Amino acid sequence: MSLRSTVLSIAQNSAVRGVVSDSKAARRLSKRWVPGETLDEALGAVKELNAAGISGTLDHLGENTASEAEARTAAQVYLDMLQTITERGLDCNVSLKLTALGLDVSPDLCRENLEAVVTRAASLGNFVRVDMEGSGYTERTLAMVREMHVRHENIGAVIQAYLRRSDSDVHALLAERIRIRLCKGAYQEPPDVAYPLKADVDRNYIRLSQELLTSGVYHGIATHDMRMIRAVIDHANRNRVPPSAFEFQMLYGIRRDLQRQLRAQGWSVRVYIPFGSHWFPYLTRRLAERPANLFFLVKNAFRG
Ligand SMILES: Cc1cc2nc3c(=O)[nH]c(=O)nc-3n(C[C@H](O)[C@H](O)[C@H](O)COP(=O)(O)OP(=O)(O)OC[C@H]3O[C@@H](n4cnc5c(N)ncnc54)[C@H](O)[C@@H]3O)c2cc1C
Repeated sequence: MSLRSTVLSIAQNSAVRGVVSDSKAARRLSKRWVPGETLDEALGAVKELNAAGISGTLDHLGENTASEAEARTAAQVYLDMLQTITERGLDCNVSLKLTALGLDVSPDLCRENLEAVVTRAASLGNFVRVDMEGSGYTERTLAMVREMHVRHENIGAVIQAYLRRSDSDVHALLAERIRIRLCKGAYQEPPDVAYPLKADVDRNYIRLSQELLTSGVYHGIATHDMRMIRAVIDHANRNRVPPSAFEFQMLYGIRRDLQRQLRAQGWSVRVYIPFGSHWFPYLTRRLAERPANLFFLVKNAFRG
């Protein structure tokens, strides 16, 4: 089992979850990647990025809500967020998870919540990105985005390059001119569903990114991997794809140097900014991506 899968499985244990999320070291570490628990703190981070010419996308942390009330509250947070983004004149859209809007409770509830958020975003000239979760949700998530896109063009999907099915999903979304964020994928998946080897994931990422770049639709290339970024820039230059035709996307607090460097070179860059109190699942995915982050947590765990 790889270190990445080990971290993701251990983190699912509720005892570990309790101990780690209460620890000061985990809180300190989460602050690197989550600028705060309130919308105001998150918007402060957006403002700073905007001043450097970088766009934002805000994610209110929370997933797998278990009740209708929670799902409706989550949707309301997004409605308020969209309003405040407009009032403050920020360059920022929103990213959300369907399980936060009630997908586990009932598809109808989730659809109703999503439609309310997308409709509000459309009325404000804004855009909604539906994050992709574990593979148990892929089919339902893409179906809901496609259904919604028929009525509202301001919605986009996420494709994970580690999934074996992604090739055909990309073709289906491109046929409907749906905007895609391409990422590698952050969940623990079995080998029949996702490529277990990084080399295969990277190869698929480069291949899919090339299709997106020349599709004539505005997509997001989400990665901090210099090899992926170089391949994308080479392909864009070779095919005369201008910087206005797509954007690079990175996570808040990761490779800030690279975010600014790409912007300085004239590429469009958007940073994903999560906020809220439910940061534990987000933290574990970031830990699993980079063992050095895990060593920081362990080293600091006993410092109080
Ligand atoms: C904007 C954005 C949105 C995303 N949305 C989704 C989504 O909806 N669904 C989903 O499954 N995944 C999502 N992801 C996560 C993604 O799938 C990967 O898990 C994550 O981006 C790490 O992969 P990588 O492409 O950066 O490459 P990797 O090969 O993992 O990393 C390349 C290099 O990036 C740096 N790096 C990567 N991760 C970290 C980290 N945690 N801490 C410090 N340095 C790091 C390191 O220098 C590393 O060597 C998103 C990522 C981004 C950037």
